[in-house]
Amino acid sequence: MKPVVPFIPEAHSHERDAWQQELSRSLSDLAELKPFESLSEEERLAARVAIVANPDPAKVAALPSLVWVQSLWAGVERLMSELPEDGPLIVRLADPQMAETMSEAVLAWTLYLHRDMPRYMHQQRQGVWQEHFLKTPAERTVGVLGLGNLGTASAQRLRANGFTVTGWSRSEKALDGVRCFHGAEGLKQLLGEADVVVVLVPLTDGTRGLLGKDEFNACKENAAIINFARGPVIETGALIGALDAEHLSHAVLDVFDQEPLPTDSPLWRHKKITVLPHISAPTIISTASRLVARNLETFLETGTVPDHVDRKRGY
Ligand code: NAP
Repeated sequence: MKPVVPFIPEAHSHERDAWQQELSRSLSDLAELKPFESLSEEERLAARVAIVANPDPAKVAALPSLVWVQSLWAGVERLMSELPEDGPLIVRLADPQMAETMSEAVLAWTLYLHRDMPRYMHQQRQGVWQEHFLKTPAERTVGVLGLGNLGTASAQRLRANGFTVTGWSRSEKALDGVRCFHGAEGLKQLLGEADVVVVLVPLTDGTRGLLGKDEFNACKENAAIINFARGPVIETGALIGALDAEHLSHAVLDVFDQEPLPTDSPLWRHKKITVLPHISAPTIISTASRLVARNLETFLETGTVPDHVDRKRGY
């Protein structure tokens, strides 16, 4: 008999049905996917794997035999803070399609800055006809903070588009065509050279408030920031200060301390900030479901839990 895998999506997810359908199809040969609420007592006690998306932690705790949970999101800081350390292992979504989607977004918004679009948009509103000097991509240095699945794909795509690319990670890294830095000194060096800083580190104790007043001061004059990781990695007040002081030229923000961004947030109306509603790399249901199926298949066949989050490291 096929094992039953509980599905615990976010309480108010409008995509719940689409996920249920696609996951059920992808898992059909391996397991039966059941919403948590439909589990029998026996199924609840026996479940060894659950598929979750910002789940109610009480529901996860009500599955006593869980070995691991498969998150449908790449960022799992909330799951880590809500599930006990001795709870099930957490497997985040590491979908190559998501890396592709994120690298596309990083390239798109880097080009937006590179081609001065915020300035020309402002000029249009003022009825101003004025040309500005253009640099080549090679004359622009883009620094990528975080060289994991998403950062590496983004750095490579920027390289392929002709930009000069640097990168920064926790441990030492070597990436073809990308000058790599690590550690506190490495961060300062990257910030001092980058025209565009792309933030792609996970939110952990080590990255909360990573970019504040000192780091913005260390940035090159007129540098721009793209934050596609998590809001609290950047200190918002310090960012606004650096933009208002005309030290930084622009910020593209896809993620915020509070989401949705409250309507009275000054970020909405700041002329040097582009606000996006957390859209840089949404999970693609079809490819993510196939990846989840492969993870489950490996576990059922070999007992091996897929690569999971290191709770001490925080990602
Ligand atoms: P990942 O594969 O775990 O890579 C994380 C990278 O950050 C690694 O290079 C890691 O260094 C580096 N890092 C972690 N802590 C650090 C620290 N204290 N100092 C310096 N570097 C540090 O993560 P990913 O899959 O690329 O995803 C990154 C984040 O993107 C996710 O956590 C999520 O928050 C965000 N995200 C956003 C969206 C969106 O739509 N906006 C979508 C998906 C994901 P090492 O290489 O040395 O380990």
